[in-house]
Amino acid sequence: MPPPTKSRGATLGKGALREALAKAATSGQWTEASELYVLFTAQPGCKDLGFWDFLRQFRSQEAELQRLRDEAQATQGENTLGYVPQEIDCPGRHWATPFITWDDGFDCSLCKQPIAADTTCLACRICDHDVCPPCQTVGRSKSTPKQK
Ligand SMILES: [Zn+2]
Ligand SMILES: [Zn+2]
Repeated sequence: MPPPTKSRGATLGKGALREALAKAATSGQWTEASELYVLFTAQPGCKDLGFWDFLRQFRSQEAELQRLRDEAQATQGENTLGYVPQEIDCPGRHWATPFITWDDGFDCSLCKQPIAADTTCLACRICDHDVCPPCQTVGRSKSTPKQK
C-alpha cells in the first residue's frame, strides 16, 4: 500500500463519516440536507468536508438519518431549549417562536379565533402559523404526560 497522500481536509473514513452524520442528525433541527450539513460541520473533525461529499453520504443513509432525528426529537426534544410540541407547532416543524402581535390582524391557526394586538403567541413566519395563548396551553399540557 502506498502511503496516503495528504488530501485536502477530507480525512474521514467511510465508517467515521457515517457515524459523524448520525451524530449530527440527532444534534439539532433539520429538514433539508443543507441544514444537516451545518450541524454536520459543527461535529469535531468534520468542518473540512465538502458539501458534495457530504451530500453523497447523506443520500445513501437518508432514511436512517431521518429516523435518528425523529427518535432524538421524541426522546430528548422536550428538554431542548425552544422545543415546541407537535400539536402547536407549525406544519413545517420549525419550532415556532414567541411572537408579539403588532396589531389585531392575526388569527390563530388552530382555533381560527382572532388574536388581539400585543398578545404573545407562538409563530412561524415561514409557514404563516400563529397560535393563540389558550391553544398553546392546550398543546403543551397534552404533550406532557400526567404521571411519570
Ligand atoms: Zn387558538
Ligand atoms: Zn414553520
